[in-house]
Amino acid sequence: MPTSQCTRHEDAWRPPRPSSKLRETMDIRGSEIGLCKFYLAAKALGMSIEPPGGFLRTIFESGKKQEEGAIAWLESEWEGEVDLQPVRVVDRQREVVLDLGEDRIVGHIDGRTENSLIEIKAMSQERFAGLAKGVEEAIDLQMAAYALGLLAAGVDICSAVLVGKLWEQEEYRTHEDCGDSFYYWLDIRREDIERKVAEVKELVNMVAQGKATLEQPNSPRSECRDCGARFNCYPALLEKERAMALEIAKPADEQDQKALEDYARGAELVKEGEALKKAAQEHFAYMLAEGGPRKVEAKGLGNVTRTETVRKKYDYKLIEKLAGEKWPECYEEETSTSLRITVGK
Ligand code: SF4
Repeated sequence: MPTSQCTRHEDAWRPPRPSSKLRETMDIRGSEIGLCKFYLAAKALGMSIEPPGGFLRTIFESGKKQEEGAIAWLESEWEGEVDLQPVRVVDRQREVVLDLGEDRIVGHIDGRTENSLIEIKAMSQERFAGLAKGVEEAIDLQMAAYALGLLAAGVDICSAVLVGKLWEQEEYRTHEDCGDSFYYWLDIRREDIERKVAEVKELVNMVAQGKATLEQPNSPRSECRDCGARFNCYPALLEKERAMALEIAKPADEQDQKALEDYARGAELVKEGEALKKAAQEHFAYMLAEGGPRKVEAKGLGNVTRTETVRKKYDYKLIEKLAGEKWPECYEEETSTSLRITVGK
């Protein structure tokens, strides 16, 4: 249970309190249908989901601005492609519902043209590059749910277009399913969506009946790291993160303060020492010139010596060719001069 000292989780997290009500029907958000089934189950059970962190919030907040840019780009890119007519993206944020009998997928589309569903995503460089190969599973499911919802509402689209926008750059890329492949894709995805919803519903009812928990037996996967439901799947993480938060939040007492001051002074001295060493090396650089002294000595302090090193640089290709017959031809001698500073007696 978070304490009042734990500022990060005190408002955001409550202990899991799954609803014990069995689910006959379920509504899932279109934008979440592609997410992990444990996340969807936690949400359906009313368990706590931590709100997105600062970086993700920034992404959501700037989504609107990025969406405007992507739509303006798409309209001009497609201008005149169909019967030389201007292309307009309409029905922005229109609600669509995919009715699966007992269950529903409900969402808001980014928009549509006369023939196409349009979904816009701002992407990192890596995801943007990946779009050339295909659409990520989670986005694909979301788009299929929206396309099926639009068709069910009587909007006669025949393609689904994902517009990828490179994060905070004016670079765009599209991926489109159209014609026969569009309808084939919808058939397959409809089955996937139905299966996913059935799995989530079964999990929800098992947890509600006390026959299962959302706790995971294995270690977190990479996508679990920022998942808002991770404390339901890995309750031990909460203790670990809280302990870290408490440690950081502990105010420094006098001894801590002194140790921190010493550390800061030490770091400064190291910096100053490096600068002094560099200045001394630069001072003795005159000894590198030929004809200069070979050694400078200061009693009790140390000395500086000019050393010359001769290195043999072998030509290995030639060695192979000459099979070891004329060795002196196989290397060059290279001389380098350096200064060695020794301190102390
Ligand atoms: S923490 Fe991992 S397993 Fe749990 S809901 Fe999130 S993604 Fe799924």
